[in-house]
Amino acid sequence: MPVPPHTVSNRPKPTTLSRGRLLAALTHWFDTDTRNASAGDDGLGIDWMRAIPFLAMHLACFAVFWVGISPIAVAVAVALYAVRMFAITGFYHRYFSHRTFRTSRVVQFAFALIGASCVQRGPLWWAAHHRNHHRHADTAHDVHSPVVHGFWRSHVGWFLTRQGFRTDWDRIRDLARYPELRWLDRYDIVVPILLAVALFLLGGWLEVAAPDLGTSAGQMLVWGFFVSTVALFHATVTINSLAHRFGKRRFDTRDDSRNNLWLALLTFGEGWHNNHHFFPGSVRQGFRWWEIDLTYYALRTMAVFRLVHDLKPVPAWVAAKARGG
Ligand SMILES: [Zn+2]
Ligand SMILES: [Zn+2]
Repeated sequence: MPVPPHTVSNRPKPTTLSRGRLLAALTHWFDTDTRNASAGDDGLGIDWMRAIPFLAMHLACFAVFWVGISPIAVAVAVALYAVRMFAITGFYHRYFSHRTFRTSRVVQFAFALIGASCVQRGPLWWAAHHRNHHRHADTAHDVHSPVVHGFWRSHVGWFLTRQGFRTDWDRIRDLARYPELRWLDRYDIVVPILLAVALFLLGGWLEVAAPDLGTSAGQMLVWGFFVSTVALFHATVTINSLAHRFGKRRFDTRDDSRNNLWLALLTFGEGWHNNHHFFPGSVRQGFRWWEIDLTYYALRTMAVFRLVHDLKPVPAWVAAKARGG
């Protein structure tokens, strides 16, 4: 698909908070148009205006003190964490970024949609950044290397920079040919808003229809959307900030990736990160039977129902390269 050239002209200097820049930031909340990179600066500074919705989502978690708690609200938050973590690891990562299995266009879209509700931007943005990470892991070109940039930058800082908002379209030409994925990517705030509204309505309905559950519209919104999404985000990015620092190295990769059981449990298998950096082409990241990889088990289950197919295995030569055999 041809990518039109960058067309923004007469751009105000990035250091000036002009009305035009303010308007551009507000527009970007709804229309990311990630192809239009911010010219004129290195993109390393945090784009505070554009980051406001993300920061507000964190502040909204404190509303638990107003809305209270109920078992049903916590259950919905946990369920949404689990389903969406699987969408991120199984699809944003293992499918869109690494193409480690195949699926239909309907299933591809369904999980792109669930992934888009996670406030980790669209599938094209995610895959482009992740492919860049593998190419340049733990060098100056890796925007979220904790070794090069430190903990906070690798955990969340990079996500909020002008550079972090951009998508390198040259990295994802295979995905960019799907208009439905381009749409999800460009208007990446739409699906999270729809989920938030749906949870609010669900809570309001349960308050009337099943008062014994002790929930409300506000409570379902705060637990189901804000708490669940913030926890999901920070769990996901531990693979950037912690899985390149803490754990064991089975393979001599060029980067500093590690295998870490606790991170693997938190992220449904992504913690076997040294395995993954050594051989990213396998659908499986826990290479040994005891390396718990919930995403892999779920994908195997989906394969039984023919929802996914052609799951790429770990080749025999990979095991031979492992430290200790
Ligand atoms: Zn990595
Ligand atoms: Zn990867």
